Amino acid sequence: MQAAARGQAEQEELAKKMEVCDVCGSLLVANDTQQRVDEHLMGKQHMGYARIRAAIEGRKVRCRGHSVRDRIISVIQLTLPPFPSIL
Ligand SMILES: [Zn+2]
Repeated sequence: MQAAARGQAEQEELAKKMEVCDVCGSLLVANDTQQRVDEHLMGKQHMGYARIRAAIEGRKVRCRGHSVRDRIISVIQLTLPPFPSIL
């Protein structure tokens, strides 16, 4: 009986061991089965956060090394029609 109670306590302790996903912030069961981990990694929430993080990183890389002046000029070039060239 005592061993059974200890086994149940260990089971509850294992169930409480959770970890936060670094990508989407979901609570995951630590040492979960590979199938459940794969299902999480292919899930809509995790995939969506991964895409957002990739887009943010790409934007940071593009902005890195450019001064504020360069960024303003590139926005102006995108929004204004091209200046007529003199022939
Ligand atoms: Zn996740």
